[in-house]
Amino acid sequence: MKSCVVCGKAGERHHIVFKNSGGFDFPLNFIYLCSEHHRGKNGPHKNRIVDLNYKISMQNELFNRLSEEYYAINDIVKILEINPRQAKVLVNDLAKYNKGYKTEDVIKKLMGGKFYYGFMIDENYKEWWNIPEEEIFLNK
Ligand SMILES: [Zn+2]
Ligand SMILES: [Zn+2]
Repeated sequence: MKSCVVCGKAGERHHIVFKNSGGFDFPLNFIYLCSEHHRGKNGPHKNRIVDLNYKISMQNELFNRLSEEYYAINDIVKILEINPRQAKVLVNDLAKYNKGYKTEDVIKKLMGGKFYYGFMIDENYKEWWNIPEEEIFLNK
């Protein structure tokens, strides 16, 4: 069993980009956390700042590893240690160019269809798609 990256206790596997947000099964999307640092108030399921920080680190690591502008599917499989079946799902709706798939498109898809930025950590920041409809109505 792997240990929690925060405290070293026995950890459980967390998907940094949640499965139900389009997250894929590959090592960079996994982090091991004890039950407290996973589901507790300072874990990514309860604390959006913690969640965002994990997502931003993962995204940075993806940009580090995929430093070329385009990649062939075989390279994606090798570099990301993603299984070929998952890789097919990953690229199936991405545009294919002569040189392969665009790195930006690949990373965006791996991040669940959007990029994450440091300014999102600001507690006053609201993602527009998360603002309740009545609030949008009031602000008009
Ligand atoms: Zn822990
Ligand atoms: Zn989790």
